[in-house]
Amino acid sequence: MNPAAAFVAALALLWGGLWGSFLNVVVYRVPAGLSVVHPRSRCPHCSTPITWWQNIPVLSWLMLRGQCFQCKAPISLRYPAVEVVAAALSLAVVQPWLPALLDAEFASWRLWLVILAEQAFVFCWLAIALIDADTFLIPDVMSLPLPLAGLALAAVVGAERGVSWQQSAAGSLVAGGGLWLVQWSYGRLTGREGLGFGDVKLLAGMGALLGIQAIPAVILAAAVQGLLFAVGYAALSGGKAMQERGLQSLRHLALPFGPFLVLAAVQWLLCQRMLLPLLQAYLDGQPLLGAG
Ligand SMILES: [Zn+2]
Repeated sequence: MNPAAAFVAALALLWGGLWGSFLNVVVYRVPAGLSVVHPRSRCPHCSTPITWWQNIPVLSWLMLRGQCFQCKAPISLRYPAVEVVAAALSLAVVQPWLPALLDAEFASWRLWLVILAEQAFVFCWLAIALIDADTFLIPDVMSLPLPLAGLALAAVVGAERGVSWQQSAAGSLVAGGGLWLVQWSYGRLTGREGLGFGDVKLLAGMGALLGIQAIPAVILAAAVQGLLFAVGYAALSGGKAMQERGLQSLRHLALPFGPFLVLAAVQWLLCQRMLLPLLQAYLDGQPLLGAG
């Protein structure tokens, strides 16, 4: 890797880590209806404000050995874990664009818009996944802007991203509308009211960003991975967790769907840039991995 690419990669990691730190605040405060900017972060145990050096992504947690500087209350491993994941996602989004970014001919504000917007989506999805896992709810304030943002992005840099505004609009309507119909019918049939349709808005946003071509794979991958997780969770806990929660069978194990949708959408976004070019090369008849 040349020095310029390494520098951009390091910057992307730092950028993602800082956003991860902010996402921890969002995940904690948004479901509680608190402001994400005010007041400053405090130790939830002793309320001592957290200073800047105790707030450096990952490093501070390591330096503090996972304890509050003041009261020694343990700080959850989830905080640095979210920062690491956000940093890795930030780099993963930048990576396919690195050659173009370092090529003066292709580097432009449009390229930066693609990268920053895709990162914004991924960070937003990460926060939504964590909030859904915690509370079984997806806040409208986070899910509702995404379909519009995805459509706007497709209108401006659709050519660069390979998602036209038509594909974006169709993806949003088909994905959101389809899931809405499923949830609505399910509610009607089972008489279970109170579905928040958070997943519908989330999936509509994914359709808008990734285009209609992504929707079948995203839904299938989310459903399969959700099912595998449920089976694995039940098997690993040896039925103990099920008993504790008074569940007779796997059918009664309620899992939020949001985190699995997010997982699948991120997988699509990242794989598309690596797998589709390979597939394209194969279809074009170019030798692939020595075969052909
Ligand atoms: Zn404390």
